[in-house]
Amino acid sequence: MQLPHILLLEDDPAIARTVVYALERAGLRVTHCLLVADALRQLACASPDVLVLDIGLPDGSGLDVCRQVRASAQHAHLPVLMLSAHGEEVDRVVGLELGADDYVTKPFSPRELVARVRGLLRRASTMAAAPAAHQAAIPAGFTLDVEGQRATWQGQTLALTRRELGLLAELLRHPGRIRSREALLNAVWGNASESTDRTVDTHIKTLRAKLLQITPACDPITTHRGLGYAISTESPAQG
Ligand code: CA
Repeated sequence: MQLPHILLLEDDPAIARTVVYALERAGLRVTHCLLVADALRQLACASPDVLVLDIGLPDGSGLDVCRQVRASAQHAHLPVLMLSAHGEEVDRVVGLELGADDYVTKPFSPRELVARVRGLLRRASTMAAAPAAHQAAIPAGFTLDVEGQRATWQGQTLALTRRELGLLAELLRHPGRIRSREALLNAVWGNASESTDRTVDTHIKTLRAKLLQITPACDPITTHRGLGYAISTESPAQG
């Protein structure tokens, strides 16, 4: 079971420390960013469960981040909680108009913030109607239904050919591990095929293009020169 992941964008170190502490004590995983640029880099690859956004930031506005999140295909449904400064009624109204789901006004009690975040998580999980437990081993961001010949990346269905789906499935079954071209050929085309390494490369290329259509800044497939391919278990944006 993965812990719910909260992405926090807040430039005030004291507030951030309190919030991170309270959320982690509540059993949530937190990634904290100080800058808009860092948060956008995180969002390019990661799929947090809730985004907590301060508004006034050194390199931009949380309102713009909220607008971008809502406009993106990848995060259109990501629950957003705004942290609005005391008395900034306008920010709060604009935030809600931009699609923020909730807000708390500074100064707020950590307990209240945790309760709001939990509320958003609950709402999101009832809406997502429980992805199956057998998908636990698959890298974050993907779902795979081999029988149904269907895969999704960041919540979007991939229109894959049979071979592309086979390659993706083979990579997802070995998250973070390099699969040689030979292993991929055997798994997807079978031993008797007259396909070559070049065939694998061609299909990886089209598969990768379809993934990048959904997340232009994030390529989850890594090429290991001379060795093969791997699918990352962690988003490259982290750490
Ligand atoms: Ca601030």
